[in-house]
Amino acid sequence: MSPTSEQTVSDFVHSLGLDAYLVGGAVRDELLGRAAKDQDFVVPGVGYDELRAALTPHGRVEDLEVAGQRVGLRLYPRARALRALAPAGIEFAPPRTELSTGPGRHDFEIVASPDISLEQDMGRRDFTINAIAKRLATGELLDPFGGEEDLRARVLRTVSPQSFREDPLRIIRGLRFVSEHDLDPTEDTLAQMREGAASVALVSGERIGGGLTADGMGELSKLLLGKRPAKALRIARDTGVLVELIPAYAAAIGADGLDEHHFAVVQAAADQDAPLAVRLAALVHGLGDAHAEAGALMRRFRYPTRLRERVVRIVGAHDLPVAGLDAVAARKLLARYGDELALDIAAHKLADVAAKSVPIEERDANVRLRELLEQERAQPHRVGDLAIDGGDLIGLGFDEGPEIGTALATLLDRVLEDPAANTRDRLLEEARRLRP
Ligand code: ATP
Ligand code: MG
Repeated sequence: MSPTSEQTVSDFVHSLGLDAYLVGGAVRDELLGRAAKDQDFVVPGVGYDELRAALTPHGRVEDLEVAGQRVGLRLYPRARALRALAPAGIEFAPPRTELSTGPGRHDFEIVASPDISLEQDMGRRDFTINAIAKRLATGELLDPFGGEEDLRARVLRTVSPQSFREDPLRIIRGLRFVSEHDLDPTEDTLAQMREGAASVALVSGERIGGGLTADGMGELSKLLLGKRPAKALRIARDTGVLVELIPAYAAAIGADGLDEHHFAVVQAAADQDAPLAVRLAALVHGLGDAHAEAGALMRRFRYPTRLRERVVRIVGAHDLPVAGLDAVAARKLLARYGDELALDIAAHKLADVAAKSVPIEERDANVRLRELLEQERAQPHRVGDLAIDGGDLIGLGFDEGPEIGTALATLLDRVLEDPAANTRDRLLEEARRLRP
């Protein structure tokens, strides 16, 4: 039977005749009434071979590995409707436990067998809200740590007191869930964060920033993209996690509220739904040599080069003067930075003034900057927007090479001053005058 487009991933998995459980983030998000990004299933009582045999008729099956050890299988369903619902595949795993052998990401032994219970599998997970399983056959929840109640009460609680010792990344994951779901850690969980703070420095950069996952998003990125980043950052500061993560914060904490100002700018950026680049810039914009700090942080956390350069340029434009800006100046900014970066800079400056007391004129000037940029984007402001191109200049007798680029830049300057000059006739006439 081929699935209809309404058929959900869970319905499909149920139809396989396995006694499968939906687990982890997908159950949490369902209880919160949110759409889950990915759906993972645990199938108790079966081994890899049995699982593979059940999945193979439905598409390509791949081994799923964590730290070089097989932990499950990923199915890329053949049916088109399902593939659209789960483009990154559907994960299936036998229950497993992890025996910690040290503090690093690779320091553990994975034990998977049909004898391991679902409760044991829930017990290796990080937080109670992520340790709930839902049996597809009946819809009943298996919730050995009271995750549903914690979710209702908006509480962040580790599954075990050893949790952060086994994997320090969980501390940042926890702060990420605080930001995403507005949770409050329990006193015990806070104490465990404090105790484990120093171990955060052991976590590899890509798990924090750029991300090893399909969405390319590490835990710090998800924290910043949540709705309550300032709350999570305050907890990070109060537990000592923040300075381990970003040592330059040491000089900002308590210093005239410089830390609080940064948190407030990050929060203001989140409140305006600003992109990750703007939130990262907010996080570091006033720390020491902010330009250098931004670059160093983006490298350490393995962010892609393009995003790094974007953040560094936003931070670099922090002091861009905005008083008395007019439409011509706005078009020149669009030409100089490009649309994306110009709007990022405006968002950054707006978030910054929202987070401190400034004269009303200064706030208005920043609001005006954003309005002008939005408005002037429709006017010509790129070489590509000009009514003539390099070919036309060659037709007028210009030499191929840098001469053309210089002439086009001069014509663009002219059009930035006066968009009405952007007609073929007027630009050809200008160009004739420019001819060497
Ligand atoms: P997201 O919504 O971002 O996908 P998630 O909670 O689903 O959040 P995933 O990384 O997809 O996070 O992990 C799925 C599940 O695996 C988690 O809900 C949790 O139960 C478990 N898990 C993931 N990472 C860890 C970890 N470092 N330590 C313990 N359990 C983890
Ligand atoms: Mg997930």
